[in-house]
Amino acid sequence: MVHARAPGKINVFLKVGALLEDGYHDVATAYQAVSLSEDIRAYPADDFSVSFTGPIDTSSLAVDGSNLAIRAATLLARKADFRGGVRLEIEKHVPIAGGMGGGSADAAATLLACDTLWGTDLGRDELLELARQLGADVPFAFIGGTAIGTGRGDELSPALAKGQFQWVFAFAEFGMSTPEVYRELDRHRDRHAQDIFPVEAQPHVDTDVLHALRAGDPRRLAEALHNDLQAPALHLEPELAAVIELGEENGALAGMISGSGPTVAFLAADLDGALELQIALSAARLNVVRATGPVHGARIVSS
Ligand code: ATP
Repeated sequence: MVHARAPGKINVFLKVGALLEDGYHDVATAYQAVSLSEDIRAYPADDFSVSFTGPIDTSSLAVDGSNLAIRAATLLARKADFRGGVRLEIEKHVPIAGGMGGGSADAAATLLACDTLWGTDLGRDELLELARQLGADVPFAFIGGTAIGTGRGDELSPALAKGQFQWVFAFAEFGMSTPEVYRELDRHRDRHAQDIFPVEAQPHVDTDVLHALRAGDPRRLAEALHNDLQAPALHLEPELAAVIELGEENGALAGMISGSGPTVAFLAADLDGALELQIALSAARLNVVRATGPVHGARIVSS
């Protein structure tokens, strides 16, 4: 058995470029991997299967070939010409369709676990290339830490970050579809084309964010947090605005929609601030989890 782990992520900065002819957008993002991770155990088997345990309700998840973990395992088997299979057990901690890249973490950890279990030994660069084929956020789940992503978010360069940031996450009881949130952003930009500056095709990460990360300064980072998907996500699910407000009234330096939502991420000044915020939000019956970042990318825990 091989036990691998990969982290969920938050986009501390996300700018979305203009809609391109192929229907996609370029983005400029600053990712941070957080201590909310997926634990994957891979057992030898003749065919491919996946099952889930842990605190997240996974009853809605398909466990057939459409599951990202199975897609990762079959892609690696094909690439390495491996004839056997794998039985995957995933202890899920990252919410499904929550904007924290849980499926991407499953795919990244599965690539690493199967590479070790099968002895296919592809090496980091080839595994990263397979990660890219599985989804825009999968390469980041593989490398972890803090990184700048451009292109579809999968052209990565590491960013310097000092110390540990304290995050508090409020999970929603529903998921949101990433493509639907992007469509809402495009509709919003069409409606307001007269009033807003033309959207750049190739956006950039603001230097303020890079400075705040490098200084390890949560107050400065709170000022620099930005997510272009926040407005469309709030337009689709207006009640999330009250969650952001509640956190900001209870000591969060800032609250923002994580990725395409619906998870709300709050940045706290320090551990005490995070604990107080966790208590206040829990008292309001929100489903709250505390985490720190940055943490490692995908790695083998034991084999
Ligand atoms: P991102 O922030 O990268 O857009 P997300 O966190 O919003 O991702 P995920 O939970 O990673 O969303 O997955 C999005 C969709 O992928 C889900 O709606 C689900 O149907 C599908 N999916 C396939 N395999 C998995 C998996 N192993 N875990 C979670 N979702 C999966």
